[in-house]
Amino acid sequence: MCIICSSNSQDLEFLTELDCFGCPLLTSIPETLVNLTILDCSGCPLLTSIPETLTHLIILDCFNCPLLLSIPNTLVQLTKLECFCCPLLTSIPDTLTHLTILNCFCCQLLLSIPDTLTHLIKLDCFGCPLLLSIPDTLVQLTWLSSIDEYFGRSKCLST
Ligand SMILES: [Zn+2]
Repeated sequence: MCIICSSNSQDLEFLTELDCFGCPLLTSIPETLVNLTILDCSGCPLLTSIPETLTHLIILDCFNCPLLLSIPNTLVQLTKLECFCCPLLTSIPDTLTHLTILNCFCCQLLLSIPDTLTHLIKLDCFGCPLLLSIPDTLVQLTWLSSIDEYFGRSKCLST
């Protein structure tokens, strides 16, 4: 159990960093935690959503959440998003234009990578069977692990 599930304190709204990694009980993150800049809610089997109000988030780890349906399009400050192994995630918001690192591999329903993520340096998206192409606009990419690695080959743009 994490601090969210075990606390009824209102003080939590002043938190800037929160780690709920692997909490078996967590179903949602309070939308009052508007000061969060770093959130790790990965490995939470019951978590279905991330609040739209967390607009100060810079780093979001929400990987391995089997019920997570989407990433809010309001998280426009995000520079790093780790949302791999989220089998219900179908898209990455095109508003996350500050992202430099996106790890979204093994998302079974992910359909596309937005062409607006022009600051991406690292993109890890292998094992996404519905993802058929990478946008040409990701000109800053120096590290890409993609569709090819799914078939046992890796592609590294920096070499
Ligand atoms: Zn908890």
